[in-house]
Amino acid sequence: MPLLPTRCPQPPTGPEPTPLPPFAARATSVGGSPIRDILALTARPGVISFAGGLPAPELFDTKGLRAAYDAAFAASPTRALQYSTTEGAPELRAAVAARATARGLATGADDVLITTGSQQALSLITATLVEPGDTVLVENPTYLAALQGFSLAGARVIPVPCDEEGILPDALEELIEQHHPKLLYCIPNFQNPTGRTLPAARRAAVAEAAGRLGLWLVEDDPYGDLRFEGADLPWLAAHPGAEDRTVLLGSFSKIMAPGLRLGWLRAPAALRRAAVVAKQAADLHTSTVDQLAAARYLAASDLDAHIATVRAAYRTRRDALLAGLGEALPEGSSWNRPEGGMFVWARLPEGHDATALLKSAVARDVAFVPGAPFHTGEPDPRTLRLSFTTHTPAEIAEGLVRLAAAF
Ligand code: PMP
Repeated sequence: MPLLPTRCPQPPTGPEPTPLPPFAARATSVGGSPIRDILALTARPGVISFAGGLPAPELFDTKGLRAAYDAAFAASPTRALQYSTTEGAPELRAAVAARATARGLATGADDVLITTGSQQALSLITATLVEPGDTVLVENPTYLAALQGFSLAGARVIPVPCDEEGILPDALEELIEQHHPKLLYCIPNFQNPTGRTLPAARRAAVAEAAGRLGLWLVEDDPYGDLRFEGADLPWLAAHPGAEDRTVLLGSFSKIMAPGLRLGWLRAPAALRRAAVVAKQAADLHTSTVDQLAAARYLAASDLDAHIATVRAAYRTRRDALLAGLGEALPEGSSWNRPEGGMFVWARLPEGHDATALLKSAVARDVAFVPGAPFHTGEPDPRTLRLSFTTHTPAEIAEGLVRLAAAF
């Protein structure tokens, strides 16, 4: 064995290296998600977490999905492993279109673009519509990663005043007239983070205003299939006057599994074609094998029966959370009762700060997400989001006991 030199040879000293050009301003102006930081803390065993927006993993149809992957490979391994079209696998586009049509929105396979999660759909639409300095209207509060995407694009994000039922249509009209926004981003069903659902009359008013005053509607609906009670409400996209200006985003994350990273968008033809070009630049296409497996699953399994199981479990979990919240939160707190989805939104009494309380909660092995980061403009420090999906009713009850101790 050759002897190692006792001293490494030093490279010749030269001139000082020239500093690198800086990152793009947008890369440093938008902060990371504080929710991801909290999630990292709550991954340790024994923590009862109301923080993450995760679907319950024990409810994944692992057997059915595994069979679907096997079938996709068996049918045509080379197709499953090959590059494919940007628009998506025809059978998956057709299945998405059939589901949308069954929910009251006539949709053809060609109207649909398959995306890598609905998060990508949001990025593609932002890339396609938003220029730096453009105004984007959002519900207040709203989904954090949407706010991040709009900020990365250099948008001026303006919050629309909301009450317990969501967007106030009169306030929306005033803002449209004042700021001439490019688009309104809206989560009408079981909104993230508030669990709120926009009532039918307000949907009609929002759709009518978009038609009359001229703006795009981005309707994000990853939770709409998770309704536990009450009747489905029509999508904004289904309203007369809004058909030519609404982009509907859907996802398989909450009804199948988020690790598949499968979502879709349904958009008017010209916008969809522009989004296809943006997608080519982003990732060429969504994973072929995952799309074919999902299409197989939809053909061979009963997704609606699976969703019914998920809904029933989430409903029981929501009820367990609601049953114990009064004992857990300080007197004078308020909270809502969502008819579906994954989240309950609560507000602590005057003088409380949910972010400050999170530390003592995590010290007692329980977690939630403070509401402040979901706000645009002035945050409401008294608010918090509680997800009820990933624990059994007994664990939820124990989590609430811990929360009471923390508060
Ligand atoms: N929109 C909303 C409102 C969400 O809550 C989420 C996920 N938490 C997404 C979009 C993205 O979902 P995915 O990319 O998994 O489809």
